Amino acid sequence: MSKVIIIGAGGVGTVVAHKCAQNHDVFSEIVLASRTRSKCDAIAHQLGDKPWITTDSVDADSVEQLVELFNRHKPELVINVALPYQDLTIMEACLQCGVNYLDTANYEPKDVAHFEYSWQWAYRERFEKAGLTAILGCGFDPGVSGVFTAYAAKHWFSEMQYLDIVDCNAGNHGKAFATNFNPEINIREITQNGRYYQDGKWVVTEPLEFHKTLNYPNIGPRESYLLYHEELESLVLNYPTIKRARFWMTFGQEYLTHLRVIQDIGMARIDEIEYNGQKIVPLQFLKAVLPNPQDLGKNYHGETSIGCRISGLDKDGKPLTYYIYNNCSHEEAYKETGMQAVSYTTGVPACIGAMMFLTGKWNKPGVHNVEEFDPDPFMAQLPVQGLPWHEVINADLEL
Ligand code: NDP
Repeated sequence: MSKVIIIGAGGVGTVVAHKCAQNHDVFSEIVLASRTRSKCDAIAHQLGDKPWITTDSVDADSVEQLVELFNRHKPELVINVALPYQDLTIMEACLQCGVNYLDTANYEPKDVAHFEYSWQWAYRERFEKAGLTAILGCGFDPGVSGVFTAYAAKHWFSEMQYLDIVDCNAGNHGKAFATNFNPEINIREITQNGRYYQDGKWVVTEPLEFHKTLNYPNIGPRESYLLYHEELESLVLNYPTIKRARFWMTFGQEYLTHLRVIQDIGMARIDEIEYNGQKIVPLQFLKAVLPNPQDLGKNYHGETSIGCRISGLDKDGKPLTYYIYNNCSHEEAYKETGMQAVSYTTGVPACIGAMMFLTGKWNKPGVHNVEEFDPDPFMAQLPVQGLPWHEVINADLEL
């Protein structure tokens, strides 16, 4: 049996559904469930209205509704690609119904723009005792970034010392301002303080305070900004030889100017305000008027390039620099799934992670980050499923 429920019918959910449907030998039955059922129906229709792909609706903020959904369908695994706010309710329902769990973003409370793994790691013992596996952060970053690091540790390094995750989107969607995934989650992430790990401590920076020009393969130089990103938290624990770990993301000037204005005029606020006798959250209102990330794909040109730049000692104790990356074309992603490369690079790894679990390769009761599993079978699937990767040995890492 390998029935899965995919919760969330946004850009990422659409890609996960496409990729799982392409791998029917592994995913024998697929249920698409989201708050708005019509979005699931539209995806099922795009996939050719197959009898083994069905739809349902659920408010994933409600454990009760989730339990009812899981009991009705009895899936082996739930792929959570709704929003980070729903992680804990879905994990709770999984425990109540004996369902395994996978997500792409760590839990974040709605009223505080703060994310960390402690809330989900607190479920470790319960998942372990129940004999259930929870795979956390299985998108691209987090996700493939952790698998790349695990692969480097396994095959190249005796001691990893410096890790920089570099995320470049060199695509152009032709809009003055748009986010590539859920605008609320995206803007909350970028407007936070930056943070990186150095010599056993976390160093906090002002939002987007540090930046540097980095060269990306097939793209060229792009200004890259230091952000806090969730996979740093688990990677420095799982690889204690790491002395410094940072995350960099590229932004264009136009994007940053719009972001500054949005913040300056209060539209990035996440607290409730009174408007015409109604309570609204400015950032949620902004989401309603911004372009929908799912609609960007059609005119999106260019590509993304995401990878890990690592230095340390090789298996013989000699100095080594290592860069491993994937480039993904927005046009190609759109042709295959109707979504742009940011949704594609998140949805494909979520499907591969689910495949790893269902084929018994990543089946380990407890709550785990991706780097805790064997990277090899996952790395073998990446190019097969549309995300080829490349290695550069002993080049200048620029960092
Ligand atoms: P979207 O906003 O496009 O889609 C989210 C979906 O979740 C929508 O279909 C929405 O339903 C549904 N949803 C929201 N709240 C609920 C709820 N309470 N119950 C049921 N369904 C709900 O987001 P994306 O597809 O862009 O992103 C999905 C996830 O992927 C996010 O968690 C994001 O953080 C993560 N992500 C991870 C990345 C990585 O590399 N690891 C990169 C990019 C994204 P409705 O439309 O009906 O409201």
